[in-house]
Amino acid sequence: MASVTIRNVEKVFGSIKVIHGVDIEVAEHEFVVLVGPSGCGKSTLLRMIAGLETISSGDIMIGERVVNKVPARDRDIAMVFQNYALYPHMNIFDNMGFSLKLRKRPKSEIDRKVMEAAETLNLRPYLQRSPAQLSGGQRQRVAMGRALVRDAQVFLFDEPLSNLDAKLRVTMRTEIKALHQRLKTTSVYVTHDQIEAMTMADRIVVMRDGRVEQVGAPLELYDRPGNLFVADFLGSPS
Ligand code: ADP
Ligand code: MG
Repeated sequence: MASVTIRNVEKVFGSIKVIHGVDIEVAEHEFVVLVGPSGCGKSTLLRMIAGLETISSGDIMIGERVVNKVPARDRDIAMVFQNYALYPHMNIFDNMGFSLKLRKRPKSEIDRKVMEAAETLNLRPYLQRSPAQLSGGQRQRVAMGRALVRDAQVFLFDEPLSNLDAKLRVTMRTEIKALHQRLKTTSVYVTHDQIEAMTMADRIVVMRDGRVEQVGAPLELYDRPGNLFVADFLGSPS
């Protein structure tokens, strides 16, 4: 298991600062949900943790290791996106094994990891199909499967359920939480859905305009929002 530490991190695009001195500590095996309006910097923050975006200043640590300059593929991190772009011309098995193939893992290992992940996610019957032959929920599972085969200690989710219908979102919430428990991963989960945040989070981080507005357990924030913005966002009675 690994903690994630974000220490005084800033991000500047051109001449515009979009992340301002953000500090967040995610404990080992914690499930932290980042919420905030569109454009407040949630995805940028996740992408910096993943190493898909450089940080302008500050430090990001995975466990005890400062990863500021570590390339994405060498961080112990898996990321699940909202637009789970699966490779349309590859079957599900190959989609799930692709990142291991890129890392030149032996075929026997790829086979084993993909089968394990498929078992965990109930995807065994679909391995030979193409992405177009799966439902939205199944495709989302494949996206998680691609993350699973990596054996990552830290999972990052960027609005993974926002393309699914309401009923499936509820099912997938439970599945993602169950996976988090079973694999003992540390998770940072971005959503703009208050219900998702309230039901899934150990702690919620509320962001606004590239800053952390308030951090706390769901009920704590709901009962004692620090200001009107947080109250509005979480739908607290005011
Ligand atoms: P969120 O995920 O909370 O909706 P983002 O992290 O995507 O927000 O964006 C935060 C801010 O950074 C926005 O103002 C966005 O326009 C800007 N931004 C994001 N990526 C880039 C980029 N590659 N170049 C310039 N500006 C960007
Ligand atoms: Mg975003």
